[in-house]
Amino acid sequence: MAPRPAMGSGVRVPTQGVPTNCDSSDSRYSGNSTYRGGGFRSALLRLVLCAFLVVAGSVSGVPSAQARVLGSTEMVPPPLYTPPPPVNGEAPMPPPLHAQIIEYEVQSGDTLWDIATAFGTDPETLAVINEMQNWNRLRPGDRVKVLTMSGLIHKVAPGDEAEAVANKHGVDLIDFLAVNGLQKGQSLPVGEDLILPGARPQREAVLAARGELYRWPTRGRLTSPFGYRWGSFHSGIDIATSTGTPVVATRAGRVTFAGWRGGYGYLVILDHGGGISSYYAHLSSIAVRTGQVVDTEALVGRVGSTGRSTGPHLHFEIRVNGNPRNPMDYLP
Ligand SMILES: [Zn+2]
Repeated sequence: MAPRPAMGSGVRVPTQGVPTNCDSSDSRYSGNSTYRGGGFRSALLRLVLCAFLVVAGSVSGVPSAQARVLGSTEMVPPPLYTPPPPVNGEAPMPPPLHAQIIEYEVQSGDTLWDIATAFGTDPETLAVINEMQNWNRLRPGDRVKVLTMSGLIHKVAPGDEAEAVANKHGVDLIDFLAVNGLQKGQSLPVGEDLILPGARPQREAVLAARGELYRWPTRGRLTSPFGYRWGSFHSGIDIATSTGTPVVATRAGRVTFAGWRGGYGYLVILDHGGGISSYYAHLSSIAVRTGQVVDTEALVGRVGSTGRSTGPHLHFEIRVNGNPRNPMDYLP
């Protein structure tokens, strides 16, 4: 893991208003829910203020600010968590766990570490809840979901029950209910994002987030990037190197195609699960058979210039549900 860079570049004067969802007189947030302008300090102050208001609110009997800041498409606030009234003379219940799901717009110079630190969470949480394939590829303007504590997010499906969801992720049921402002026995709001406090992501999701799941299929000179070029769409990247150079699996997977396919020439396609596949084209020879399961960096073939090609190179693609994605977003 890279050392956390200094916060210097991330701390800037905010240029836009920070959401006022912590107003204790009205917890329903109705503004733009995206933090912009790199206002880490401001956001941090706001969160501290939030926590203060929540504590103050629950102690003084004022409704606590539990509305979560969601993306503009999900503006339905969850039910407020109402702690049971204190029994005669006994100390009041502790305030509920406080966490939010916020959307943050990445500013130039931001790293995931900056953002995580500013919002009191950790980079793995942010990478996994955003299904990042390589957290080093964060770009200014990207909108990332921020969970302001370590944990995961569960999107409620029909039939989900609190206890089963909490158990599945190793989360304490009471914490799960409290952080989401839910009562015991209450049905879960279908389609809404719920917080799984402290839940740990699966190993593969963490590897992906760190940019450690994919490997370069071969080494050479990048001669053509992904995307539109000269009026046509290039569905992968071209890596030029000499004929016969080994081509290896970018990630473990199953061979779903190994043979000749038109302009691709000799082609190997690997299925990595989850709708993700990789293509290795213009090969001079193929080293695998359809149906074979291969490890990361297993030899799948050798560089060539078969099919529609003007010289020896590997044409490499990554597809998600059949749609080409920029391989550079996945490669380390
Ligand atoms: Zn190409």
